[in-house]
Amino acid sequence: MLTTEVKPKPKKRSLVFSFIKFCFFMFLMLTVIVAGAVIGVVKTFSDQLPEVGYHTYKPKLNTKVYDSNNAQIAEFHEVENRTEKVKMTEISLKLQQAFLAIEDSRFYEHYGIDFVRIIGAAVSNWRSGGIRQGASTITQQLARNAFLTQEQTFARKIKEILLAFKIEQKFSKQEIFELYLNEIYFGHGAWGVASASEIYFGKKPADLSLAEAAILAGLPKNPSRNDPFINPKKAKERQVLVLNKMAEHGFITKEQASAAKDMPLHLKTTKKEITRAPYFVEYVRTELINKFGPKKVYTSGLKVYTTIDLDIQKAAEEAFLNAKIYKDNPLDTHPTLQGALISLDPQSGYIKAMVGGRSYEQSEFNRATQAKRQPGSTFKPFIYTAAIQMGMSANSVMTDEPIEKVNPYTGKVWRPANYESRYFGDVTLKTALEKSLNSIAVKLLEKVGIQRVIDITHKMGIKSHLGNNLSLALGACDVTPLEMASSYGVIANGGIRVPPTAIIKVVDNEGNVIYDPGYRGEKVLEPETAFVMTEMMRGVIEQGTGTSAKIGRPAAGKTGTTNNYIDAWFVGFTPNLVSAIYVGNDDRKPLGSGKSGGRTVGPVWREFMLAAVKDKPVVDFKEPANITKKQICRETGLIACETCTNKTLQSFKRGLEPESMCSHGAPDEGIDDYFVNQDGEKIIIDYTESEEGEVSEAGDEITVETEDAGAFDPNAVAAASPAEKKQVASVKVGGKPAPSSEESDDEEITADGEEE
Ligand SMILES: [Zn+2]
Repeated sequence: MLTTEVKPKPKKRSLVFSFIKFCFFMFLMLTVIVAGAVIGVVKTFSDQLPEVGYHTYKPKLNTKVYDSNNAQIAEFHEVENRTEKVKMTEISLKLQQAFLAIEDSRFYEHYGIDFVRIIGAAVSNWRSGGIRQGASTITQQLARNAFLTQEQTFARKIKEILLAFKIEQKFSKQEIFELYLNEIYFGHGAWGVASASEIYFGKKPADLSLAEAAILAGLPKNPSRNDPFINPKKAKERQVLVLNKMAEHGFITKEQASAAKDMPLHLKTTKKEITRAPYFVEYVRTELINKFGPKKVYTSGLKVYTTIDLDIQKAAEEAFLNAKIYKDNPLDTHPTLQGALISLDPQSGYIKAMVGGRSYEQSEFNRATQAKRQPGSTFKPFIYTAAIQMGMSANSVMTDEPIEKVNPYTGKVWRPANYESRYFGDVTLKTALEKSLNSIAVKLLEKVGIQRVIDITHKMGIKSHLGNNLSLALGACDVTPLEMASSYGVIANGGIRVPPTAIIKVVDNEGNVIYDPGYRGEKVLEPETAFVMTEMMRGVIEQGTGTSAKIGRPAAGKTGTTNNYIDAWFVGFTPNLVSAIYVGNDDRKPLGSGKSGGRTVGPVWREFMLAAVKDKPVVDFKEPANITKKQICRETGLIACETCTNKTLQSFKRGLEPESMCSHGAPDEGIDDYFVNQDGEKIIIDYTESEEGEVSEAGDEITVETEDAGAFDPNAVAAASPAEKKQVASVKVGGKPAPSSEESDDEEITADGEEE
């Protein structure tokens, strides 16, 4: 017998034992609670489940789409042969197997829910640290598509599971599969395999080839993303996946799979309904389907009020197709030479015009919203915005000179050169932006901090990934034209970001407003930052690389040309309209030497904007309260002296205007006005009015500080050191006051015919 008082061991054992007992008890309790909850949930939701049966169809109502002036631009309706049901025997075995392989390989083994797959998916999601894999069975998808709404709620998910069990009880597997194949959505208003076979291939489902069957089976998961008309590449990837799965499950051999992969696809060339603003209409259709599900969009008679302005749209299409580069390279001989134009109202975010390519009939791929291209120098304003936002000013001086950067990880040397390797010595930020100087963009990005620039760029509306790398200074990232227009819109709109909007409201068949995004503006920049940036970007059009875009009213913008002339951009704005245009080959072949943003796209932007604002009053950018204006010497960035010959009126955030004054334009008089002290600093004798309006005594000494070369001090007065002064002088001695923009753009040459 164990004597408990002597040995501690048994006590320990009993402790362990009670712990096990406790755990077992807790487990029992939990089981009871969970079971109770499950029963309760099942009970509650069972009562709400719809009747399962071969349901009858209600009359279908078309959805109508209107422009901003309430003119109808499109009508959405389902494909006509929707009610033509096909029997299982009329559906080729290959098509059935394609669906089983990609959607539900254990369909004939489970009872509506595939627990094996749910656990598998859970494990793989846990491993990949996110929800990547779903585990909806064919029965669940049928439940969702035929009987439930598309909303993504927990309640709907539970109903879907319960309904799946109910369907499995009521129908045989063959019946379920047949219902599913007749019910599932394939895009373009096509439900069921019969409609889909007709729409995509002009065939009956019995006549589809293996390659075609794999395309169709790849669609229901995401009909718009995998749309073979719009995204042939994605559709192909999905087809290959389906074929691989079919081989994996032994439905076909590997040889059959690879033969099908190599088979060229012949999509049905339909006479598509020519709608006005076709790219925009498709954009709206996708947005509606994502919001409401295809059934509601195609059959419930919605009225959709959109932002597009058909007059501006017409101007956009005309100007875009009129581009010289397109005239010189007709579409039938140069089908990959494409581009996009997108125009928004920066104050409301309303999309006013959208051109996604040269011809919707030829290619439905919407380059305005889907093409990811390098923005080149049109990225630079984000860097300058970050610099202005943190306290630099348009006249802060930096030295334009050859630079090289060593990648600390790879040891590779990078030499981002200016256009034709021309350098200008000391320049103000405004001049650097106007001339699109690459070396300054890189130095500024480094000075401001890459992460800070990335953050501000995202805030302004670039959603695409931005690499933490100095090459970002030259626009080494991939963005859509819509992102560019929308984020420049923040500058146009005084620092307030309004997300791009296509749909103003949606009204249902009974007149209820079922969607209205309302105003969603958000302040992301100081209004003074936006104003200073606007002024700098006006300079780009007035005397920089973008003179081909002059429209004779206040406008600001930026040119962009990527390496080897692959993409040419112009993005710019008036106070009421911001427009981004790019031209480039779909296969990223170079456009050809000299095909720069300023030369190729600037004139297109100009023609479009002139037409778009033709009947609108001339509006200037609104000046915020804390702005001071000063006459500034272009070469030194200082207050212009009385005799300075190269000056400009410039805006500053109050308190950041320079205090000292330049001293050139009158060398004979100015000769005694400065001296160099023992520290090598230039001391200027100031004899002008001080800010308070008092005339300073002659002899007042003002130290011209050298520009801080190391740590950034936003309050430092931008000025030039004596050494830098010499460089300026040497540039000036060259003759012309400032080298003209034609020769000086970074990688750009502006139009030879700079008429204005
Ligand atoms: Zn001067």
